[in-house]
Amino acid sequence: MLVYNSQTHKKEELVPIEPGKIRMYVCGPTVYDQIHIGNARTFLAFDVIRRYLMYKGYQVTFAQNLTDVDDKIINRANETGRSAAEVAEECSAAFIEQMHRFGVLDPDIRPRATHEIEAMQAMISLLIERGVAYPVPSGDVYFSVRSDHNYGILSGRSLDQMRAGERVEVNDEKRDPFDFALWKAAKPGEPSWPSPWGDGRPGWHTECCAMIHRYLGTPIDIHGGGADLIFPHHENETAQAMCAWDAALANTWMHTGMLRVDGEKMSKSLGNFYTLKEVLDKYPADAVRLLMLQTHYRAPLDFSFERLEGVAGTLERLESCVRNLRWAAERSPQDGELNDADRTLGAQIDAAREEFCRQMDDDFNTAGGLAAIFSLVTAANTYLADAADDTSTAVSLRAADMLAELADVMGINLSRSTGEGDLPAGLVDLARDQAGYEGSSAAEAAEALLAARQAARAEKNWGVADAIRDGITALGLVVEDTAAGARLHRKE
Ligand code: AMP
Ligand code: ZN
Repeated sequence: MLVYNSQTHKKEELVPIEPGKIRMYVCGPTVYDQIHIGNARTFLAFDVIRRYLMYKGYQVTFAQNLTDVDDKIINRANETGRSAAEVAEECSAAFIEQMHRFGVLDPDIRPRATHEIEAMQAMISLLIERGVAYPVPSGDVYFSVRSDHNYGILSGRSLDQMRAGERVEVNDEKRDPFDFALWKAAKPGEPSWPSPWGDGRPGWHTECCAMIHRYLGTPIDIHGGGADLIFPHHENETAQAMCAWDAALANTWMHTGMLRVDGEKMSKSLGNFYTLKEVLDKYPADAVRLLMLQTHYRAPLDFSFERLEGVAGTLERLESCVRNLRWAAERSPQDGELNDADRTLGAQIDAAREEFCRQMDDDFNTAGGLAAIFSLVTAANTYLADAADDTSTAVSLRAADMLAELADVMGINLSRSTGEGDLPAGLVDLARDQAGYEGSSAAEAAEALLAARQAARAEKNWGVADAIRDGITALGLVVEDTAAGARLHRKE
């Protein structure tokens, strides 16, 4: 399996540190507001990377922090008259809620910066002891980039190049303009913790590094984030790790491309800034996932509502194909000899899985993986249309299961729109009134209603047929007339 390593600029064979296990860490959000769709792109990319590693049989331990103390949080608290802790708590809960809506799996470990002060202070003390960090009279502690001969190893920039090219914050207390704060002395009214260097709070770069060391051990297999984090955040993280524990922080560094909206950088001033919440309020999560996964994770992602509208139809094609396969299997159970068409679809199922893995093994090419899924959709639709009533139950179900299995790696859940669990209990009452049904199963009630509607239509009893359909619609369901007969599913 090949994975692109941003540090070496090459695709490399993924060799886990411990056979069969992957330890990975993805920098989490700074919790001062709802996350935006750019953040969501990055979290989604790593969700699918993690799911695929699990699909391949790796035991994955995934950690992601919440940066719950930061200037942005403090500013937001001051603007809104709340405490920084309140802002962070509320935004952490909102973040977790939106990740759930988006179908992103919870991390195995979710440390919060404010709960890790001790681990960070221990690391800072070690760096001071080792002569690569120094406290200053104001109470700040800085990392000395000049004392670290490897500084620049991740981003490939030398200090001289940086000096020529960039403007940095001037600060009399720093020995070098590129030195960065490990510990920040408290200003009045800010959250702070006691320390050997005076009251203060940790610097952002210190946080991830100390948490990785504490929860996963260094080095880890994969460290991820958006490409904007390579410098300085990840450069500074790895510098601290190497100087503190003489080991790289991660073997493989993975970075996602930036999301853009209508070809432009997303920004509040351009009026093209969208939170994940507002997009998920209007569009199904699976459609947003599908759109984002059509682009390779390292490439910039072009988001637009026009594209999103188009993708909704693509998603529906996938969902209705799985529904129709299951429906065909239930409608006309055929367990006899397989015919040519059955065998052809059987081979296409295997080929789709193989192609899916081939694409995903190549640095998580989700666009290629989706193409493999949709080639199976096309094959299955042809099979259903040609076979009409003569579909094989086993082969139809296997095709449906394979589509659901591969879609699940993408975090797209196809079991939702099928099966009895999905049918509202109200169908039972409706079937009692309209079809004389006397049982209590929603699935049987659905069958009875469809049969009654069919009978009414055959007798040209349109009033009754329409009443049944209206009753069904009122329950949030749609009657779909397929080649293999009518069936019910949830309105998307
Ligand atoms: P932040 O809360 O700003 O630290 O961002 C959380 C994550 O989202 C980081 O991994 C960022 O690199 C990533 N990120 C921020 N903006 C974008 C964007 N426009 N596109 C993709 N990822 C982004
Ligand atoms: Zn980080």
